[in-house]
Amino acid sequence: MGAPTRVAVLGATGSIGTQALEVLAALGPDRATVVALSAHRDEVALLRAAAAWPDAELALSGAARHEERVGYSGAEGLVRMVERCGADVVVNGVAGSSGLMPSVAAIRSGARLALANKETMVMAGSLVMDEARRRGTRVIPVDSEHAAVFALHERFGAGSIEELVLTASGGAFRDRPIDSFGSISVAEATRHPNWSMGAKITIDSATMANKGLEVIEAVRLFGVAPERVKVLVHPQSRVHALVRTTDGTLYAQVSEPDMRVPIQNAITWPSLEPCAFGRLDLAGARLEFSEPEEARYPLLGLAYRALRSGEGACVAYNAADEVAVEAFRSTRLSYVDIPRVVEAVLAGRWPVHLATFDEVLAVDTAAREAALIAAKGFQP
Ligand code: NDP
Ligand code: MG
Repeated sequence: MGAPTRVAVLGATGSIGTQALEVLAALGPDRATVVALSAHRDEVALLRAAAAWPDAELALSGAARHEERVGYSGAEGLVRMVERCGADVVVNGVAGSSGLMPSVAAIRSGARLALANKETMVMAGSLVMDEARRRGTRVIPVDSEHAAVFALHERFGAGSIEELVLTASGGAFRDRPIDSFGSISVAEATRHPNWSMGAKITIDSATMANKGLEVIEAVRLFGVAPERVKVLVHPQSRVHALVRTTDGTLYAQVSEPDMRVPIQNAITWPSLEPCAFGRLDLAGARLEFSEPEEARYPLLGLAYRALRSGEGACVAYNAADEVAVEAFRSTRLSYVDIPRVVEAVLAGRWPVHLATFDEVLAVDTAAREAALIAAKGFQP
């Protein structure tokens, strides 16, 4: 075996970050070693996560640091740490649009990007993929559906794939009568039937904004037209994605719903190694699939609308959803108004093409302002 892979974990205190550290512990220090970790505000949890890796550099991106061990602070500090830490692989488990520039820094440093932060691809997918090509490195998706498509893509080659199918659990309200959606509480929306994840993505799973973001992510990652990306509701979350090859056959990737599988595969890529997690016994399992209902999940259709409108609208879709979900979590907006805020923001004029990261960030800021104004109009 060669030298251990040098890994940075951004968002190390979150759901993805914690599981990435479990994977790294299971792989062992001869296979992979942690060179950098970040958190946003939770310095205590960051230091706890770093205890097993005394040589790792640390960044706290959103609060003042108190401990000497934390060498970097602020959003710029996080980017600087990524640039300097010399990682071979950067696992980006930062939540939200703040994950974009750390992803760019990782690629520019020449590291491979193990990407959970889907906002990176939604906001600036084509710029990021160009940057990776220029730097001669790769973006390896961690998002389970995309990790599944990626594995199938690697085996068949893009030319043999006709269609991608992303599965969706259907979220917390897949069986709830739609006429009762007006009374949905934050607590109800933050309980996921199959996965344990951060609060934002759990609410996005209920509304299917998460699947909308993932459709955009798939279009950017795999360079396919939006109409070649389909979504099916699959309540058991065992089949993570399928591809249809040109002969019409469907191939599925199947495992327990456990993010540690795609995290490990992204860290060890291109080699496939024994994995301590997620092995599924199919005997007795029931696997169901159905079309998503439009009325239950209006945010899914809005994601396709954003894709048809162009790159600026995709940034706006993400920004508006972040603002709307934040307003819902602080009870300034009702659940049913989340898609209404996004729809109102998408009705604005957004640039079709974004040529620089500064343009991306400017649209993000403008869309957030528009969403705040829209959300005020819908106050419960
Ligand atoms: P969590 O909320 O659990 O964790 C977020 C992490 O990012 C924490 O370490 C947090 O630090 C840090 N963070 C929060 N805000 C910022 C910021 N503005 N700048 C830098 N760091 C920040 O999120 P998840 O782990 O659930 O999700 C992370 C990303 O992965 C998201 O993009 C999500 O869509 C994606 N993803 C997650 C999956 C999952 O299973 N959880 C599955 C597929 C994709 P602190 O603790 O200090 O607040
Ligand atoms: Mg996913």
